[in-house]
Amino acid sequence: MSGGNKTNTKYIVVTGGVLSGLGKGVAAASIGRLLCSRLKIVPVKLDGYLNTDPGTMNPIEHGEVFVLDDGGEVDMDFGHYERFLGVQGKFGWNLTMGKVFQEILEKERRGDFLGKTVQFIPHATNVIKERIYGIARDEKADIMMVEVGGTVGDLENLFYIEAVRQMRHEVGAENMLFVHLTYVPVPSGVREQKSKPTQQGVKLLNEFGIYPDVVIGRCQEYLDDHIKEKIALFGNLQKDCVISGPDVESVYEIPLVYEKEGLSALIHKKLGIYSPPALGEWSQWVAAVKKNNTAPDRVVEIAIGGKYTALEDSYASLVESLEHAGAHLGAKVQLRWIETSEIEKGNQDPAEALKDVDGLIIPGGFGSRGIEGKIKLIKYARENNLPFLGICYGMQLAVVEYARNVCSLEGANSEEVESPENPVPHKVICYLPGQKQITRKGGTMRLGGHDVEVRKGSKASKIYGNSVRIRERFRHRYEVNPEYVDRLEAAGLKFTGKAPGTPIMQVIELENHPYFMGCQYHPELTSSLLKPSPLFRELVAASLTHSNKPVA
Ligand code: GLN
Repeated sequence: MSGGNKTNTKYIVVTGGVLSGLGKGVAAASIGRLLCSRLKIVPVKLDGYLNTDPGTMNPIEHGEVFVLDDGGEVDMDFGHYERFLGVQGKFGWNLTMGKVFQEILEKERRGDFLGKTVQFIPHATNVIKERIYGIARDEKADIMMVEVGGTVGDLENLFYIEAVRQMRHEVGAENMLFVHLTYVPVPSGVREQKSKPTQQGVKLLNEFGIYPDVVIGRCQEYLDDHIKEKIALFGNLQKDCVISGPDVESVYEIPLVYEKEGLSALIHKKLGIYSPPALGEWSQWVAAVKKNNTAPDRVVEIAIGGKYTALEDSYASLVESLEHAGAHLGAKVQLRWIETSEIEKGNQDPAEALKDVDGLIIPGGFGSRGIEGKIKLIKYARENNLPFLGICYGMQLAVVEYARNVCSLEGANSEEVESPENPVPHKVICYLPGQKQITRKGGTMRLGGHDVEVRKGSKASKIYGNSVRIRERFRHRYEVNPEYVDRLEAAGLKFTGKAPGTPIMQVIELENHPYFMGCQYHPELTSSLLKPSPLFRELVAASLTHSNKPVA
């Protein structure tokens, strides 16, 4: 094949066995965290599905759609990579089988294959390898952290497994490490750790020609010595290459656990690298998270009103952002999920749903289901001085609520919910310029990082440390209708952040309210443990005040 590995890059490939949902992304990110003090780590995720990207998938299917600064809509694991590694991901770093086949079919039509039969092997595997090598070259990566999606044995991921097997052959064993994340159950009847699923999982991996160098056993507790020995024996490993991955209170503890288990020294030795883990500040904040988990007098409850509440992963970054904010304020944030379609149907009253909560978030969303419920919750927060943060659709609906109930614009709504049967008299939220004509759904919203001009002296500016320009990430098709801005402002709803040079409104706030903020962007996408998002931090601070608990 052309290209190949003409760099000094080392590769760490993370696969998963036994069952899904073990936290492979967090594991890969944690390994990267251990190695990133001196080395450039570039994460790559290989997804087996045929969508080009997760942007067109319902979050209930696949968890949150993570948006990168470059506008790429990618797998939610990029949230972990960015938060753990401090890198800015790129769209090309998330490969999907959709992208692989798209490239192959384009090449075939161009005639690039010169009369050859186009086959899964070598052509699909070559595309996969070339993409990974290409990223290594372009980024001058010291380490490529390659996470293979799914569970070993899934048909849709087999070409990835074959591609990474070939890569090891090409780059040499000294340059590539296979880490296999597996599951060690403790069945309730026997109450002891069982290694058989791991043995079988490793065997399956062996059948595909891959012999893991490290096995991480996810378990409810640390692995017993004799279980490590057993896994080592049947997996052809030294015992110190079997690492415990116990359940922890906070995902941010995982790098610390791996370090305690000797993982970084092991990787240094195997790959001939040296990059000592810099975990000092990190462990301080992890300690803060844990302290707050055990301090009942520091608990605040924040409600999240949405329609994907059945799957917490739909709002993964939001949940993380509240954890970051809590750690920095000495507070434990408890969540109350409110299914807004229940409020909409009148099955629950907003006052009852929000009883005793200290803050409310209405996150991003699409479509009409549940929005009347969201609007009712926002009205309650506005009228009852309950700290509120509206994110994207949440901000747009706060504008709708204000238009209807304060500006008396009856029937005000977003153009998003308009249909021939349901005309909207006051489209206070309308299509962004150029969006109305778009018919293709994939990757066509206003996406990615954009600058926000913040009004001097506003609450928003104070929250952002008196900044007048910030950068945040967007994913939307609609905006506040510029025609209504003056009317809303005159009635007290302040637009204190906008896109430089255009009338696209990006932040709203109310003056006479302890904390009523809305943003068109997604601040949860750039929050991290070491640098929490200011909008979340101040929401939690206001919620502490609301509950009469002093801010630490
Ligand atoms: N549906 C709204 C829009 O497209 C909000 C999008 C979002 O919340 N991410 O503008």
